[in-house]
Amino acid sequence: MSVTRVAVVGSGPSGAYTAQLLTEESETPVEVDVFDQLPTPFGLVRYGVAPDHPRVKSISTSFAEVFEETPGLRFLGNVCVGTDVSIDELRAHYDAVVFANGAPLDRRLDVPGEELARVHAVREFVSWYQGHPDQSADAFVLDGKRAVVIGVGNVALDAARMLVREVDDLRRTDIPEHIVEAFADSTFDEVVVIGRRGPAFAKFTNKEFIELLEVESTDVIVDPADLELDAEQQAHIDADPAARRLLATFQKAADRGSLGRSKTIRFLFDRTPVAFVSDEAGGEPAGTVAGIRLTKTSDPSVIETLEAQLALRSVGYLGKAIDGLPFDERTGTIPHRDSRVVDGDEIVQGVYVAGWIKRGPNGVVGTNRKCALETVTSILEDIAARGGVSSATSAEAIDDVLRSRGVGVVDWNDWRAIETAEVAAGTAVGRERVKLYVREHMLRVAAVGGELAGVPAHA
Ligand SMILES: Cc1cc2nc3c(=O)[nH]c(=O)nc-3n(C[C@H](O)[C@H](O)[C@H](O)COP(=O)(O)OP(=O)(O)OC[C@H]3O[C@@H](n4cnc5c(N)ncnc54)[C@H](O)[C@@H]3O)c2cc1C
Repeated sequence: MSVTRVAVVGSGPSGAYTAQLLTEESETPVEVDVFDQLPTPFGLVRYGVAPDHPRVKSISTSFAEVFEETPGLRFLGNVCVGTDVSIDELRAHYDAVVFANGAPLDRRLDVPGEELARVHAVREFVSWYQGHPDQSADAFVLDGKRAVVIGVGNVALDAARMLVREVDDLRRTDIPEHIVEAFADSTFDEVVVIGRRGPAFAKFTNKEFIELLEVESTDVIVDPADLELDAEQQAHIDADPAARRLLATFQKAADRGSLGRSKTIRFLFDRTPVAFVSDEAGGEPAGTVAGIRLTKTSDPSVIETLEAQLALRSVGYLGKAIDGLPFDERTGTIPHRDSRVVDGDEIVQGVYVAGWIKRGPNGVVGTNRKCALETVTSILEDIAARGGVSSATSAEAIDDVLRSRGVGVVDWNDWRAIETAEVAAGTAVGRERVKLYVREHMLRVAAVGGELAGVPAHA
């Protein structure tokens, strides 16, 4: 019986659960290499989950324990699969390759004006405030009055909440110092959250909504008229207890009304965006958004234009095609059967999927555990069908390939060094920890065991 070797592409929740479950569930020895294009592990737990959600973020502590305590499990960060190493090379070096690379793009509204400055995908805004190294540090200047967020999912509420959150709350998080300062300087005092349908169809969770109501500086305004449900909304509420709970919270918000607070989040339902407009009178630089044109979804003859100096569309993350693998453009996922990648009717031998690239951008962190278990079950069945015989090369062989190309792999110890530097950067500004957000800085501190060594603590 030889050691099975598996490559996992992506160290977000689905990749981390896949690695953990493979080592736990396999009755025969298995080694797992987890690749990530970033020098940092954990995917959207680090770069998606809101900084003011520490409990969810702490799942990374459990993932870290797995990486630290599991023999034969390695982290190979700063390696982009498809660029630094090809899919065919991985297939040649491992018995199985699992794509757990998430959904790094976003859906568009496809309306005129979407290319105007200050119209962004919410993903860009989230990546900016999370200090994602691939997002420009000065991508956002928060100097408007009203922002609009198009979409009514949890990510839309995260973005709206961040725009009104007290700066002292942000100082308790690990977001970079220049981001805290950008929020401190923000002049936005109103965020309008726009839903295409009525409140019964809002997709965010009740928990997330209650949290919004608890932001002290902010009024949450719900028009009581929106809570008079039409038959379609009523039927939905009758059938769905979660929607019923959410509607009860909407009712509480409507009853509470305005408390005269300094900032406002306002819900606008039954509206369809038809265009983003710039200020033709010349108040803004040409090509910058000045408003959003909306129709009533239930009556398209009703048209209104809402002034706004920032527009975030939050209508879904989207998977990205990888050269050499089949891809379903419509769903933004890699097609599969029982997690085995398929090209038409043919199974692509030894290639599997897990997480958002497998099922689309939905579900919470824990959803990816069940998803990864399905993937692991198929891998272990296929290994058993081969009698447990491995055709993989050694760990050194893949290391040699990467070294020969000058790829600076960030291993687990290097990541720990980056963490040490982040704690030091935090101490320098009186905070517990502050994320490094420049890739080159991460690589530099990793190379010297975590000393800030010339890396500015809060550049
Ligand atoms: C803004 C936001 C907030 C969220 N908040 C919550 C929350 O509060 N609670 C909750 O439970 N869930 C939350 N979620 C959902 C949760 O983050 C996802 O369910 C989960 O991260 C999906 O896991 P994944 O592993 O499929 O993808 P990801 O987490 O995106 O991980 C994919 C990884 O693959 C890597 N990768 C991509 N391409 C390559 C390549 N070519 N080579 C090497 N590596 C590659 C990426 O760098 C990334 O690290 C949130 C999601 C978002 C977007």
